[in-house]
Amino acid sequence: MPQATPAWLTFAVCITRRAWVYVLVASLICFGTKIHAADVNIDGQAYRPLTDIAAQYGMTLSWPVAARSAELQNKYCILDFTAGERLLRLNNEPMALGFPVMLKQGMLYITQSDFDKNIFPLLSPGQIPGPVPALHRIVIDPGHGGNDPGTEVFPPGARAGAKAIDNEKTHTLEVAFLVADELRKRGYEVILARTTDVNVDKAERAAMANRVKADLYLSIHFNHADQDYVTGTETMILTPFGQASTSMDESKITKEIHAGNRLDAWNAIAGFSVERAVTRALGTANRGVKRENLIVLDELDMPGILVECGFLSNPAERAKIDTAAYRQQIAMALADGVDLYKATLDQLRPPQSTPPTKSTAPAAANSGKK
Ligand SMILES: [Zn+2]
Repeated sequence: MPQATPAWLTFAVCITRRAWVYVLVASLICFGTKIHAADVNIDGQAYRPLTDIAAQYGMTLSWPVAARSAELQNKYCILDFTAGERLLRLNNEPMALGFPVMLKQGMLYITQSDFDKNIFPLLSPGQIPGPVPALHRIVIDPGHGGNDPGTEVFPPGARAGAKAIDNEKTHTLEVAFLVADELRKRGYEVILARTTDVNVDKAERAAMANRVKADLYLSIHFNHADQDYVTGTETMILTPFGQASTSMDESKITKEIHAGNRLDAWNAIAGFSVERAVTRALGTANRGVKRENLIVLDELDMPGILVECGFLSNPAERAKIDTAAYRQQIAMALADGVDLYKATLDQLRPPQSTPPTKSTAPAAANSGKK
């Protein structure tokens, strides 16, 4: 029987405990590198050489001698790393790292923390400790509302105090209703964090999700950049304990451990699944999965993600977002992302044992009882 395949990657090697057999027999080919570089410790951070990760996952390391970029590949996935970048690309999809990839003495290294928080959950979801989360009840958070409009659009040349011609809070609510409808059609239970133009406190939105014991928290937003050429979609998940948020210098390591950090591994899978589905469905630039300490994500008791569905500051992207047809596309894409995450969770659960019927029960089960 073939190995189960993480739906988001369509790769199979590392998903089940049996997969470690593959790791043991996997080949490792290195070009111009030492095969077994030792782990190193720099400024209190443990670093692992890419050769070590290649060996663990049975991947080929392609790396011209002392080049700044390297690729780990097997038949299921490709991981790209570049020295100095706080980023990895998994099958060409960007995921923020907590620390830059380091080139040291002719070897590329990543931190153990990035391996644990970013690579391990995505390549070895079957090895994540604890039960696989359920996924039925979803809280959708339409960002902003009421006296908090979110990002606003003003007419060209508008003076200070001019009235906005477009805003984020309206579109987040519109899309939230559409996603809710679509997810309900697909069998999920959905609760909205707001249904009218009101400003619900951010911490209260998350607390509500905890009270109703949601299985997933999906916050919907639209983006803004000072440069109007910036476009694309990105997904935020909670900054792992021991790392800095993507928007911060890597030395600004978060000092506080949040309730949501218990779910770092599942946040990574949920975030990657939804970001992948959204960019594929919408054809948007994939700005990646990023890490941020956000009030709506910090204290969640369930995996949580915040999706920035496009830039209102980009005229072309905004023109699309302003159409009902495109907002429906966004809603379908988000629902596809939830489905992709659910498919991965379903594959990780042990098969349900069906209770034996009279006709199929083994003889031993019916003997010796009378
Ligand atoms: Zn927003």
